[in-house]
Amino acid sequence: MDLFHKKYKCEVDSEKFNTYLELIEHSRKVHHNTILKCNKCGKQFIHEKDRLHHVREEHGKEMDARAHKTEHKHKNKDKESTQGQVDSKMKKFGDNL
Ligand SMILES: [Zn+2]
Ligand SMILES: [Zn+2]
Repeated sequence: MDLFHKKYKCEVDSEKFNTYLELIEHSRKVHHNTILKCNKCGKQFIHEKDRLHHVREEHGKEMDARAHKTEHKHKNKDKESTQGQVDSKMKKFGDNL
């Protein structure tokens, strides 16, 4: 019987749906909710928090990668200043061998 278990439930009238898209369609047609769209991939969402969660989960990595790139630029400057110290340590280590 659990084969017919439906995953998505309308919060307004508790009607259940197999797919999120069906729930969105229902929400839009029956409750006239404004459907939010991800501006990156066009995926639809009922709640702004769902959209934000999706953007963070699905597209957040891309934004992180971009942020890291700019971070690395700053970090490289630090590495350049400590590069001399690392080199001298490596030389000492080599001498001990
Ligand atoms: Zn409903
Ligand atoms: Zn998206």
